[in-house]
Amino acid sequence: MKKVISVSLGELVLKGSNRKYFEDRLIKQMIKKTKLIGYDKLYKEQGKIYIEADESKFEAIIKGLKKVFGIVYISPCIRVEKDMESIKEACIKNMRKRLEKDSSIKTFKVDTNRSDKNFYLKSPEISRKMGGILLNEFDSLEVDVHKPDIYMYIDVKQTHAYIYSEKIKAYGGMPTATNGKALLLMSGGIDSPVAGFMMAKRGVALNCVHYHSYPFTSERGEEKVKELARKLSMYTGKIKFFSVNILEIQKAINANCPEKEMTIISRKFMMRIAEKIANDNKLNALITGESLGQVASQTIDGLTVTNESVSIPVFRPLIGMDKVEITQIARDIDTFETSSLPFEDCCTVFLPKHPVTNPKVENIKKSEESLDIDALVNSAIENMKVYTIK
Ligand code: ATP
Ligand code: MG
Repeated sequence: MKKVISVSLGELVLKGSNRKYFEDRLIKQMIKKTKLIGYDKLYKEQGKIYIEADESKFEAIIKGLKKVFGIVYISPCIRVEKDMESIKEACIKNMRKRLEKDSSIKTFKVDTNRSDKNFYLKSPEISRKMGGILLNEFDSLEVDVHKPDIYMYIDVKQTHAYIYSEKIKAYGGMPTATNGKALLLMSGGIDSPVAGFMMAKRGVALNCVHYHSYPFTSERGEEKVKELARKLSMYTGKIKFFSVNILEIQKAINANCPEKEMTIISRKFMMRIAEKIANDNKLNALITGESLGQVASQTIDGLTVTNESVSIPVFRPLIGMDKVEITQIARDIDTFETSSLPFEDCCTVFLPKHPVTNPKVENIKKSEESLDIDALVNSAIENMKVYTIK
C-alpha cells in the first residue's frame, strides 16, 4: 500500500496519434513545477500520470500541479495490489480519513473504472462489493447513487489498483506552448492579464508588449506591468517583455488629428507596433483584453478600425465577458491586486473628453494622412527595451 498522486488529463485524451506529443509536453511542465519540491518517480499508466513522493510533500506538489495547463484534476490516491482484500483495506482507510476531517459526510457511492479488462470482477461488481463493505464498516453512512456527499473511486489498472475520493480541480486546457506563440498587448489594467491567461490556457506561449509614455507615466507603472507578467509566467514559463515608449506618437497625433480620435488612433499604432514585433519574433497572433462595449474604443466600429490596421490574427478572449466575470478570474489567478494599484496609464495622458464611439475606417485613415506612420512606428521600435521575465 503506497500513497501516490494521480493526474487526469482532459482534452488530451482526444488527441489520437498526437497524444504522445501533448502528453510529453505536459509531463515536461509537471516536472518543471515539482522538481524543486522533490518527487521520487513519475510514470504513466493507462491514461493517467502518477507521481510517487514523500507524503509530506503532497500538498506542495498538488499546489504546483494546479498551475499546469492540460491537467483537469488531481487526486491523492492509495495504490494497492490488485486483489479485493487490498482494495477493501484502502477504501476503509480512505473513508475513515475523510470522515475524521468532515463529519457531515453521510452518503457515498463507489465508482469503479476497470481498464484492466482481465480483472476477475467487472466494475459494477467491484462497486457493489465495496459499497456493502463500507456500509458495514461505517454505521453513519448510507448509499446514495444520485447525489452522494462523497464518491469512493476505484481504478483497476494494468499493474495496480488506485483508490481515492478527492478530485481537486485544475484549469484543464492544453499544455503550455503546444498551440503556437502570441504577443499579448498588456496594459496595467485588469483585463489584459486575464486575456493572456485564457490564451495561455489553450496552449499558446506568451510574449508581452507594454506601451508607456515615460516621463509622463512613471517607472513604477512599468514595474507594475512587469510584476503582472511575472504572475502570468508562473503559468506559462519565461516571457519576453517588450517595453515601448509611444510618447512621440501621442504627441504627433495630438498635434495633427482631431482630439476625439486620440484614443482610437493611438490604439491603431499599438496594433501596428505589436504586429511588427510579432513578425520580427516569429509570433503568430496578437492578444488583447478588449471586451465588447466596455469603453468607447471597444465598440464594433472601434474594433473594426483597430483590426484594419494589422493583418495577423487578433485574439480577444474576453470579448463576450462581463467585468464581473473577468474580475473573478483576475482574483483567481492572483493578478487583481497588482492590476488595481493606481498608476498613470499611457492612454490617460492625452485622454479625449468625448472619444468617438462609432469611428469609420475611412475617416480615421484620413485623419492619419498627415502622420508619417512608418517613421513613427520604426522609431518607437528602435528605442524599445526588451526584458526576460521569469
Ligand atoms: P485593461 O484592463 O487590459 O487595461 P481596459 O479595459 O483598460 O483594458 P483599454 O484601455 O481600452 O481597455 O485597452 C484595451 C486593450 O488594449 C487592453 O486590454 C490591452 O490589450 C491593450 N492596451 C491598452 N493599453 C495598453 C498599453 N499601455 N500597453 C499595451 N497594451 C495596451
Ligand atoms: Mg487599460
